[in-house]
Amino acid sequence: MQPLTIGAFSIQSVHENTGAYITPADMFPTAPPEAVATHFEWMTPTFFDMPSGKLKLAFQSFVLQTPHHNILIDTCVGEDKERTHLEFHMKKWPWMDNLRALGLTPADIDIVMCTHLHPDHVGWNTQLVDGRWVPTFPNAEYVFAKNEYAHWEQESARGSERIGLTFIDSVLPVMEAGQAVLVDHDHQIEDGIWLEPTPGHSPGHVIVNVESNGERGAFIGDLMHHPIQVPHPEWSTCFCWDLGMSAASRTAFVEKHTDTNTLVMPVHFAGATAGHIVQCGVSQKFQFLNDKS
Ligand SMILES: [Zn+2]
Repeated sequence: MQPLTIGAFSIQSVHENTGAYITPADMFPTAPPEAVATHFEWMTPTFFDMPSGKLKLAFQSFVLQTPHHNILIDTCVGEDKERTHLEFHMKKWPWMDNLRALGLTPADIDIVMCTHLHPDHVGWNTQLVDGRWVPTFPNAEYVFAKNEYAHWEQESARGSERIGLTFIDSVLPVMEAGQAVLVDHDHQIEDGIWLEPTPGHSPGHVIVNVESNGERGAFIGDLMHHPIQVPHPEWSTCFCWDLGMSAASRTAFVEKHTDTNTLVMPVHFAGATAGHIVQCGVSQKFQFLNDKS
């Protein structure tokens, strides 16, 4: 993703990995295959890998720099984490090198904000030092939505986390270090940066809205995973906690931001990542910043 600006704020991506991960049938359980097939042409090759029949997904964080703070939004899969999901298990990717390439060190991050507490959004919250998980960003306040934290705390206590011990290795050590702040789902981080609840993918999923000098943007986490969900916001993923609620949150977002100046930044859209939602015939489509077709 190219560096972007929204008014006085600058935005850069810290990339972890992009790959062909999952078939449309597995990803979108309610999507009719013939309806998916009508999108193959525009999706190939950036968003769909024809040889494997799998959708391509990016994994990345965003650094939002304001005159006051360096804010890191979502922290990818991370390193050395034991996960039941093999694509996330004990990985080494150049994420930290990519952060440093922006001229930033972990000590420069003032605020870490996780849109939700799934394993691919909290990984770099912590790192392994002398056999212990410690916060990666020593000077940062980590912001978690209260109800999202409460849900995963409860799931962890019941031993029912389905992808691994994410809460224990990537969230709890931050709390124990005194660096976590639990906030309401409409919390304002600073002037022009505020959370908005978008439940469904997870119980306390939030997006981060940004407004500066009349320009607007939204870091939408996993409200959408793939650009095919812009024309089809009703297609929730197999990773969603409540498919109906996820579809309702996504549909409301798409309708609210169609043909507006809101720059939308989803974590998992491959290629240019950022773009606008535009009306296209009877439905909407995602117009990437580098595509004026
Ligand atoms: Zn995700």
